[in-house]
Amino acid sequence: MSANANVDPAELEKFSELAHRWWDPASEFRPLHEINPLRLEWIDRHARLSRKAVIDVGCGGGILAEAMASRGARVTGIDLADKALKVAQLHLHESMLSVHYELSSAEEYAETHARTFDVVTCMEMLEHVPDPASTVAACARMIAPGGQAFFSTINRNPKSYLFAVVGAEYVLKLLPKGTHDYARFIKPHELAQWCREAGLMPQEVIGMTYNPFARRYALGHDCSVNYLLRCARDD
Ligand code: SAH
Repeated sequence: MSANANVDPAELEKFSELAHRWWDPASEFRPLHEINPLRLEWIDRHARLSRKAVIDVGCGGGILAEAMASRGARVTGIDLADKALKVAQLHLHESMLSVHYELSSAEEYAETHARTFDVVTCMEMLEHVPDPASTVAACARMIAPGGQAFFSTINRNPKSYLFAVVGAEYVLKLLPKGTHDYARFIKPHELAQWCREAGLMPQEVIGMTYNPFARRYALGHDCSVNYLLRCARDD
């Protein structure tokens, strides 16, 4: 990894430290397990994953990568947290699925994999990197003509601070304290602008909400806290 890589080592350390619990659905990663069926359905509906070449950027322990492989996609997962990738690799023995994992940043991988993937996913990752626009641009470079990109992150406003930081980390304790840094949250129009600058056409923004009483996530119109953005490559 080069010295000026687009990565925050403290962020990687957080994910590496917890990596052994990645596949425990009652652990700190429970929210990722719970949102996974929702985002998988949404991606599959738009991308028709079967037999598609997919790259999951910031794949962590492989929750989404495996789910997409189970739909018949040929999935590559990249991440810079070594332990998370080791857990992802080990879990393939349990799931009997096939995913190709590599330790790499999006920027580095894009250098040798331009226009390679039908689908690029980058979920719950942009709010952990110093220069998310650079990650978005690298994701865009990896998309084959006619392909699509799917991003998800957290909006930046008083409500998202209250829900995603205070609520999730301090009140409901869904996530460890310090998981998210408010200053790194991203407004939908900022993400859309980075996409356009990278040659992607934003097609749809959808919100993801959490009902703490029902303990359920849902996709819908409310993008004030968590949201997802779907883009097509502008060829
Ligand atoms: N995308 C997965 C995991 C989200 S957790 C999912 O939604 O299920 C965020 C992940 O981003 C962690 O695995 C962390 O190691 C990874 N990450 C953080 N900074 C990164 C960087 N600069 N390059 C690649 N991966 C990074």
